[in-house]
Amino acid sequence: MNYVVNKMNKSEKIFVIGHKNPDTDSICSALAYAFFKKAKGKNVIAARAGEVCDETRFVLDYFKVKEPVLIKDAIGKKLILVDHTNPSQAVDNVEEADIIEIIDHHRLEGLETKSPLFARIEPVGSSATIVADMFFSDNIKMDKTIAGLLLSALLSDTIIFRAVTTTEKDKKIAKRLAEIAGLDPEKFGVEIKKAGSSIKTKTEREIIESDFKLFDSMKLGVGQIQIVDNTEINERKEKILKEMEKMRLEKNCKTLMLMVTNILAQDTDLWIVGETAAAEKAFKEKVKNNSIYLKGVMSRKKQIIPPLREVLLKEGAL
Ligand code: MG
Ligand code: MG
Ligand code: MG
Repeated sequence: MNYVVNKMNKSEKIFVIGHKNPDTDSICSALAYAFFKKAKGKNVIAARAGEVCDETRFVLDYFKVKEPVLIKDAIGKKLILVDHTNPSQAVDNVEEADIIEIIDHHRLEGLETKSPLFARIEPVGSSATIVADMFFSDNIKMDKTIAGLLLSALLSDTIIFRAVTTTEKDKKIAKRLAEIAGLDPEKFGVEIKKAGSSIKTKTEREIIESDFKLFDSMKLGVGQIQIVDNTEINERKEKILKEMEKMRLEKNCKTLMLMVTNILAQDTDLWIVGETAAAEKAFKEKVKNNSIYLKGVMSRKKQIIPPLREVLLKEGAL
């Protein structure tokens, strides 16, 4: 008998947990994987490292599933990490936890573990894809609820198969999950994304600030809101522009922008207040009604900032 091993109670709780600011993949993969491990006789409980977002709330309500338990500190806990490995994204004090498994679909960075572990990391569209694959290959029975949760996570992370990270495997697994859950992936995916991007309860300021970045040296602020239907936000355009101008003065920016990005149409209506000359040069388009329409543009980091920076550099403004 090995005393060190024996000291650990066999029924000791293990928590499956996703990253902070949990998305639907982090929550639903944790729930499904806990179920999977329980089916194999392990004492595993689904956990979360933060508040669930609107999109995930919709999914949990839809399938009538309670949210996982909240864990604020990982000290002394046995953990299975899903949907992340980077300690900076993990629950606090993850370095002081005993990580016994990892299920993820991101690049590996920065994690050290105390003991050898089981790790399954695959370049697919979601962690849920991997979890579902494990159910199927181990012949663990999956009910409608688990299939629905996994499908939701898969559709969320792949933006209904539109994200560049989507693989053939994701599509195949989604098809099987959809059959079990009795759902149409495209239709249900749009419902999930709609629920997650509703601006009804948000103030103009909250809409602009929900994902806002300041680029000090450029005297520029750029927010982004992801939507699936432009009607609602267009109806509030005037008020939002007014709030943007207020914010521009507060933050001492020359220009303030809001990327109104439609993830289904895969385009961005770029709303602009303040100086517009640099934007017109960068995107080779005149500003009309405070906006420039950009087909195929979805990334601030890759498609908005670099052309603007180039123009400002050329003009000696940087
Ligand atoms: Mg995630
Ligand atoms: Mg994910
Ligand atoms: Mg995600």
